[in-house]
This record gives sequence, C-alpha cells and structure tokens, in this order.
Amino acid sequence: MRLLCDEMLSGFARWLRAAGYDTASQSPQDSDRVLVARAVAEDRVILTRDRQIAEHRAAAGRVLVLHGDSLDGWAAQAAGELGIDWLYRPFSRCLVCNVGVLPAPAHLHHRVPPGSGSPITWCPCCDRLYWPGSHVRRMSATLERWRSEEWQR
Ligand SMILES: [Zn+2]
Repeated sequence: MRLLCDEMLSGFARWLRAAGYDTASQSPQDSDRVLVARAVAEDRVILTRDRQIAEHRAAAGRVLVLHGDSLDGWAAQAAGELGIDWLYRPFSRCLVCNVGVLPAPAHLHHRVPPGSGSPITWCPCCDRLYWPGSHVRRMSATLERWRSEEWQR
C-alpha cells in the first residue's frame, strides 16, 4: 500500500515510513487538487485531517480522514481502517526522504557513535545514517505498542 499525507500530517508520515510504508508528503505549495491528482497518478491513499479533500470526486475511495489530535488515535485508526501493520518493515526507509535505506558502506561507519550496534543503514538520497540508538529504540517501542494495541482490539 502506498500512502500520501497532507502537509499537516508530515509528522505522522515519518511514523508510517518508520513502519516501512511508502509514504509521500504533500509539498507546501501544492493545492488540494494537486494532492488528489498525485494520489490518483501514483495510486496512493491520502491521509488527511481535512474533510473537504474527501469531497473531491477524483478522491473517492482513496482518502482516510483522521479524527482527533492524538498520534495514538491516528495510529489506531490507520490500523483499523487501512490495515496498517506498525511492524511491517521497521526502519527500512528514510524517515525524511521515503527512500529505501541500504546497509551503510563501511567507510561511513565512523560517523556513527562508537558501540552503536547494528544494523547501520544509509539513505542514498540525503546521506543520513540510521543506527539502533536511543531515538530509534524509542520509536521502535512506540511501533510495538501500537501493534500490540491493535491485537487487543
Ligand atoms: Zn533520506
């Protein structure tokens, strides 16, 4: 499943990428019409908090309007209505670029704090490195909690 988050959900888009989903974000200059056209062209489901986007005829059947203000609530809604598995392919994509990450070439390992463990992955688009440090561990814990809450439903 491919996703497209509107501009207001750019933070949530990072979580979807963390879970491994191909998740594009709306560019700030793009109108809602452009957003809908992109979703159709790229076969993506739009996630938005703006009910009006769902009223575009071309958007029929490909919009999820998220309710409320809580990340936990959105995570539960995305799991319940789109079947998002929060442990689909954790940390397989760059959180910023949405590109698949690769094993980091050895000559880049010096940029990671010593003793960081593995895997160390690298985004070929923005050159970011990812490793199982505290930030990734905290995000993993949240993804696991969202997944287990889904099981309990
Ligand atoms: Zn990147």
